[in-house]
Amino acid sequence: MAKKQFKAESKRLLEMMINSIYTQREIFLRELVSNASDAIDKIYYKALSDDQLVFNKEDYYIKVTADKASRTLTITDTGIGMTKEDLENNLGIIAKSGSLAFKKENELKDGHNIIGQFGVGFYSAFMVADVVTVTSRALGSDEAFRWESKGADGYTITSCEKDAVGTEITLTIKENTEDDQYDEYLEEYRLKSIIKKYSDFIRYPIKMDVKGQ
Ligand code: ADP
Ligand code: MG
Repeated sequence: MAKKQFKAESKRLLEMMINSIYTQREIFLRELVSNASDAIDKIYYKALSDDQLVFNKEDYYIKVTADKASRTLTITDTGIGMTKEDLENNLGIIAKSGSLAFKKENELKDGHNIIGQFGVGFYSAFMVADVVTVTSRALGSDEAFRWESKGADGYTITSCEKDAVGTEITLTIKENTEDDQYDEYLEEYRLKSIIKKYSDFIRYPIKMDVKGQ
């Protein structure tokens, strides 16, 4: 009998993963900041072999914005961005890593900084968010697209406007319940301490903007 492929119930896998891979919820911010850093690094590595592309370090940063009134936490980067296909492939297929593919395509060996490889970190956002919205414009494109998901139910992709190349990820933070606290992920001191704990080594500036403290 021919060898058969395993099938997976992706909804259940995503739920299982979100709830069991990570022992601490706070690491979602490490994952999103590392993705933002990887996205900037991709421009950096492209610029090494592309004379048309100049990498001015001061143009590249990561920004974390919390807004208590709207319960949103936004991670913005000026990195390479994602096309509609990238959104579909990298955020629509669990365990597919665009960063691992990038490292292979560009034959990046030791000494590079790109962190991503497993293709699951992004989904950790659903540990703290009801809705995740990704607005992105890819380098070299004047079109932008918005990917939005409430988790296991799937996602939508729509076209939208975005002035600059890069990605903006907005988490609508869950409401507190009797057993679980989420408000802390909108507090400046808490966000700063998570960044200090896990993202101190990131080579690009991480700016912070907190509204309604
Ligand atoms: P990994 O980082 O291990 O590859 P993730 O689940 O964290 O896996 O992210 C999946 C993929 O989505 C990344 O490999 C990358 O291609 C894409 N991606 C995620 N966040 C961003 C971002 N801010 N900018 C550009 N691409 C991103
Ligand atoms: Mg990642």
